[in-house]
Amino acid sequence: MSKKYDLVVVGAGPAGLMAAKAAGENGLEVALLERKTDMTKISRVDAGALGINEYHFMEILKYNTRDKRFCFPVCGFTIPYDGPWSSVYGFQIHSPGGNRICIGDWEEVKKKGDEVALGISTSKDKLMECLLLEAEKFHVDVFPGTNVTDVKKSGDTVQVVAGDKTFEACFVIAADGVNSRIARVLGFNKERKFHGTWRSLCWEMEGEFPIDPGSFNFLLSDKATFSLVPTYRKDLFHLSTFSYNPATNLNAVLENFVKEDKTYSSWFARASRVGTINCIVSEHSPIKEPFKDNVLLIGDAAWFKEISNMASFCTGWKAANSVTQALLEKKYNKDGLSGYFKWWNESFYEPHGSVEFASAELQKFLSGEEIDYLASIVTKPIKATMNFYTLFSSIGRTYAELLPKIQEERPEIMDKLIEMRTKSADLGEQQKKWGFPNK
Ligand SMILES: Cc1cc2nc3c(=O)[nH]c(=O)nc-3n(C[C@H](O)[C@H](O)[C@H](O)COP(=O)(O)OP(=O)(O)OC[C@H]3O[C@@H](n4cnc5c(N)ncnc54)[C@H](O)[C@@H]3O)c2cc1C
Repeated sequence: MSKKYDLVVVGAGPAGLMAAKAAGENGLEVALLERKTDMTKISRVDAGALGINEYHFMEILKYNTRDKRFCFPVCGFTIPYDGPWSSVYGFQIHSPGGNRICIGDWEEVKKKGDEVALGISTSKDKLMECLLLEAEKFHVDVFPGTNVTDVKKSGDTVQVVAGDKTFEACFVIAADGVNSRIARVLGFNKERKFHGTWRSLCWEMEGEFPIDPGSFNFLLSDKATFSLVPTYRKDLFHLSTFSYNPATNLNAVLENFVKEDKTYSSWFARASRVGTINCIVSEHSPIKEPFKDNVLLIGDAAWFKEISNMASFCTGWKAANSVTQALLEKKYNKDGLSGYFKWWNESFYEPHGSVEFASAELQKFLSGEEIDYLASIVTKPIKATMNFYTLFSSIGRTYAELLPKIQEERPEIMDKLIEMRTKSADLGEQQKKWGFPNK
């Protein structure tokens, strides 16, 4: 151990890179520790999409195409990004027999294009590279290939242990992602509600698909749910499926879908698989006050699952500025970061901290034909959004209005929807039993 830092940041994802860059810009002595050796190479599933032009967690992001910068007007910072991108306009849900629910008005999209975009798909590698260059410009000491195994408070400082190296700082920002080791080491996971271990498998597919431009697609077959998501490259898509059940062979599920599904296999006839990416997430409830022993948890490390790239940047920026303020006020403790907790509570925890996303395994309850019927009765587009919290409540409201129609036309489906609701707690319990709680 040699140099004593003002701040050590663990993890160089969007939250950690932003925190390190902002703290460096404020003149702090900062170390950024990342376990990957190639720091900006993204090896986990992520379409690199950022929601723009609508509020997400009290921020409304804009991409300034002229100067190639993402602008966060509420927080008040910008990030350079001169990589490739493409516009995203909303979601579409496809049923096993070929019906389509549009979340977004695709006729409007065709007329107005970028003007009605609600998202931008970026190259996340490039976005991280742009931010790393900024962090280095502001004299952040960067340590790739550094796997943090422990954090300990010692007197007035915190020691961060990574193999045979120890780093020392007044404050630590833990931005080590959704399966945060630091959250576990500090004992946070013992208090958090555990929802299950979510596994996702993604095939990178090159080709053209019969979907509207810039649409994020959920494909419902009679067996499982898939997503087909555009990337910054017009001919490259992410095809993914997921399960909480460790016995499910996700590769076989994708293989069967692409080759055998009666509706969708034709979509893939001229597409080729060019890569495979995995993702495993232990889902815990968000942390109300993500601070202990001078360690502040930010980004996914303090959230349920994916807080999003855009929100991660905001937590990094806010955390770095709160640490700067605490050091200026010589408050080397929780009181020094009170501004961060207030903001975290108002923007994240209070509005969304207790939200639970129900598992979308409709096929356990409904046949393909029944899912088709449900898709066919939504005849108008649902209001476009890229915000998951708004999206699911809009879909819920749409179906709440259609319940009398379902009851009249298909009472047996109504019974199944009720059964689905009453059994969701049992399914949740099963999910937990299958999972690895990372306590
Ligand atoms: C399937 C899937 C798809 C997604 N797609 C999108 C999308 O299209 N758009 C979007 O906005 N969001 C998306 N997300 C969410 C997004 O990936 C996360 O919200 C975001 O990356 C969180 O940023 P973070 O910096 O908090 O954590 P991460 O991006 O996970 O970064 C954590 C970093 O910490 C490092 N690290 C971990 N442990 C240690 C350790 N012990 N020592 C040192 N370093 C460590 C990791 O290597 C990593 O670099 C997706 C998430 C999932 C699961």
